[in-house]
Amino acid sequence: MDPMRTFISFEEALTCVLEQAVPMPLEMVPLDEVLGRTLASPVVAAGDVPPFASSAMDGFAVRSQDVGKGSTTLKVVGHIAAGDPGGQRVEPGTCMEIMTGAPFPEGADAVAPIEWVKERSGDIVTFDRFPERYKHVRPAAEDVRIGQEVFSAGEIITPAVVGMLATLGVDPVPVRRAPRVRVISTGSEIVSPSMVPGPGQIRNSNGPSLRAQVLVAGGHCTSYEHADDDPAAIAELLASGPEADLIIFSGGVSVGDHDHVKRVLDDAGADMLFWKVRQRPGKPLAFGKLGSALFLGLPGNPVSSAMCFEIYGRSLIERMLGRRTQRTPLVKARLGRVIRKVDGLHFFTRGVVSATAGGELSVVDTGPQRSNLYGSVVKANCIVHLPEEGAEAGEGSLVDIQMLPWALPDGA
Ligand code: AMP
Ligand code: MG
Repeated sequence: MDPMRTFISFEEALTCVLEQAVPMPLEMVPLDEVLGRTLASPVVAAGDVPPFASSAMDGFAVRSQDVGKGSTTLKVVGHIAAGDPGGQRVEPGTCMEIMTGAPFPEGADAVAPIEWVKERSGDIVTFDRFPERYKHVRPAAEDVRIGQEVFSAGEIITPAVVGMLATLGVDPVPVRRAPRVRVISTGSEIVSPSMVPGPGQIRNSNGPSLRAQVLVAGGHCTSYEHADDDPAAIAELLASGPEADLIIFSGGVSVGDHDHVKRVLDDAGADMLFWKVRQRPGKPLAFGKLGSALFLGLPGNPVSSAMCFEIYGRSLIERMLGRRTQRTPLVKARLGRVIRKVDGLHFFTRGVVSATAGGELSVVDTGPQRSNLYGSVVKANCIVHLPEEGAEAGEGSLVDIQMLPWALPDGA
């Protein structure tokens, strides 16, 4: 068992979390259900795209060397529609009517669009313009060549990727199984969102919002559950729940008299890898392993819960999915006004980023940032990272920001 580390830096904490991520097993899923999933293996084209040369216009397949002086007159010897099997041949002095997407005949090398016809009488057609070689012909393999690696493992399946997979005939698709994530909220004051809270009670907001964050991250939230601040109740819930690859606790990880999550985990034989990080919000963050599952203990304040999930939970799920790139990598933005902070703590300040007329990114905080003020999260489209050292980040300084994955650009 690794010794538990405590009060570590943000960088150490994130590294520790990511080191524990094991890629989920591969599963084959029907193409129509893979939007947002992650490719588990590379995709190699089993054929050319497009598979055959075809016409890009409605018109006539011609031989460009048949061009006449002023106008060109040819005999129409056939008609090729989209879906026809192809295999025709165009001899000198002749042409074939051809529709968009129809297989391009041998012998011809260009398409004269229908609009270029000067006159037609029976099977004799005269063009007042004539195409150069290859005009309006879509060659085979112009997009993708057989044997080409079109996607590498770890690609996120966007609508565009779905289109390419369909073109290539990849169905079902090899994807990583979504990590199964259990969300357990603790707190005797917490009631279900559909209830009217009694005196001293509040609604469970972390359960539903963490579930939503898990889904956006690409995880499968098996359940969100709740236990009172009672070690036996938490232990029982933990022991009885669905199988999970990741368990996310919210609340009960701090040092209060009723913060029992750590103790319950210890008693259950968990390997606590760290507890407490030099960061705000989310100082009491806990992380470790329980059997084959990983767990994150997020502080209960809704802002801490949301930010710690975005920073640690989402990165972890992305890594478990084997994603090649982070959905929202760090980018630089210029601070529109000063942000004061505590020297010695890494800050995750909620921000609004927008593009300036000069094309730079400019970011300001969302106002009061205390960790109970969830409005600071709702208004934000990004997280501003302010490193541990220093008591402020000055107006005009360059800072790292990370978009929230659900955010729209400012003003949208
Ligand atoms: P804790 O981390 O348990 O000390 O909780 C810190 C603060 O977050 C307290 O004010 C709790 O009432 C609040 N809190 C804890 N869990 C939740 C939750 N699931 N939904 C909303 N607020 C919560
Ligand atoms: Mg609590």
